[in-house]
Amino acid sequence: MNDMYFTEEHQVFRQSFRDFLQKEVVPHIDKWEKTGTIDRFIWEKFGEMGYFGLNYPEEYGGLNLDVFYTIIFLEELQKVNSGGFAAAMWAHVYLAMTHVNAEGDDRIKEKYLTSSINGEKIGCLCITEPFGGSDVAGMRTTAEKKGDTYVINGSKTFITNGAYSDYLIVAAKTDTSSRNKGISIFIIDRTTKGISSTKLDKLGWKASDTAEIAFDNVIIPASNLMGEEGKGFPYIMNHFALERLVMGVNAHARAEFALEYAIKYMSERQAFGKTINKFQALRHKVADMASEIEMCKEFNYSIAKRLNEGQYIVKEASMSKLLSTKMADSVINDCLQILGGYGYMEEYPMARLLRDSRLGQIGGGTSEILREIIAKIVIDNKEYKQTT
Ligand SMILES: Cc1cc2nc3c(=O)[nH]c(=O)nc-3n(C[C@H](O)[C@H](O)[C@H](O)COP(=O)(O)OP(=O)(O)OC[C@H]3O[C@@H](n4cnc5c(N)ncnc54)[C@H](O)[C@@H]3O)c2cc1C
Repeated sequence: MNDMYFTEEHQVFRQSFRDFLQKEVVPHIDKWEKTGTIDRFIWEKFGEMGYFGLNYPEEYGGLNLDVFYTIIFLEELQKVNSGGFAAAMWAHVYLAMTHVNAEGDDRIKEKYLTSSINGEKIGCLCITEPFGGSDVAGMRTTAEKKGDTYVINGSKTFITNGAYSDYLIVAAKTDTSSRNKGISIFIIDRTTKGISSTKLDKLGWKASDTAEIAFDNVIIPASNLMGEEGKGFPYIMNHFALERLVMGVNAHARAEFALEYAIKYMSERQAFGKTINKFQALRHKVADMASEIEMCKEFNYSIAKRLNEGQYIVKEASMSKLLSTKMADSVINDCLQILGGYGYMEEYPMARLLRDSRLGQIGGGTSEILREIIAKIVIDNKEYKQTT
């Protein structure tokens, strides 16, 4: 345990969450990976246990705990080895619910935050569109104000929990003549007329439902606007720091899981009359991987602490995601190599890990976009400020 960041209470939580996952989740993972559907009962169990409310206010049923409980939640989720299951859970809590908590008014929070924390309602966050994800300000989905309603038209794609969620947090243009100043955020019930979704087939994250969603004259009450009209872009940017740290933490945790497995395998597998953990080529590889994981992990913990203290960590969270996801892909690839032919087999964990890990460098801001942000800060002295 790293006692610079984790207390005894954190450690007790880690052990109980790990036991819960082993008992309630692991036995179902292979089925959920095959069907691409996570049974509803597990959402309810997460809710009952309070796992969706770790960082949310007590008045809506949350536990209002520090960020290191979230770190433990994310790390342990990676260790059930289903990037898709983990993504379904963290996208609900740290993408959709983040907006509900930050921009929702009391009515919205009472209705959606409470039921998201107790596991009754599942949320998704809809930003990316078929015509482009990196260029958020270029989105084409529109929200036209008509009396006391908005009418939404357009489409979103690659949305995690996009097929089975109960509500959608949707970014849309309220002013089509403007780029980033024309975006607003809405909360929309899945059952609203005019919404349809199509589940997408993909390389990894098999247990999670990733979907394309169409909005055809979807009429919603004007009170479903979240926060102020035209402020959607800065709201999205505000939360990217958390999302990118989440993805950095996920990456160091799955790399650690892969390495622990590979080290155990090396101590059992024999070649040329000895266990393969005696071969210097593999030992040095392990030393490199352990060092890279530790560096990312320590960096991620240190910026989590700063986030917890209220600092706006745009540069650091971009660096975290950029390097941790690249490191995880490389470590998992090398761990697969250590398992030889077994690494390529589905009954061993590396094949799924390799597939699932690859999304890290794409979702929530590609590595190229992160380099753009970092370059603007370190070369052009650009300052990113949090919008309130
Ligand atoms: C499994 C999965 C789950 C996802 N979940 C969600 C979700 O829940 N909600 C959501 O809103 N989105 C989600 N996404 C979308 C994801 O965030 C986008 O795929 C990502 O932001 C990239 O957008 P794009 O796919 O349109 O690529 P594009 O923006 O078309 O980019 C294509 C390529 O061009 C590069 N590029 C683009 N602009 C620049 C530039 N200025 N400089 C250099 N290179 C550039 C990119 O890095 C990339 O390599 C998910 C995606 C996947 C695959």
